[in-house]
Amino acid sequence: MKTVAAFVILAGVVLLFSTAEVLVAFSGFAYYVIGAGVVLLIISQLIGNKDRIGLHRYVRLERDAEIPAMYWYRCQRCNKKKKAASIA
Ligand SMILES: [Zn+2]
Repeated sequence: MKTVAAFVILAGVVLLFSTAEVLVAFSGFAYYVIGAGVVLLIISQLIGNKDRIGLHRYVRLERDAEIPAMYWYRCQRCNKKKKAASIA
């Protein structure tokens, strides 16, 4: 996602600097491309932050070998594993 956003911004910048030659018609369009890239970057940043804050979807796995009251959980979204006491 971030790579796509960076590519869109780069494409916009390239478009902006190449306007003097053949792409004069796209001079105004270049700003929109850069703007779209920036928006994409912000959105991807927000999605990344959300996941870091803790919107993980954990699914319960096997019981911990050392502490029976503890279970292993794995996030369905980022495959992160954690150990926690069972709720039910
Ligand atoms: Zn996660």
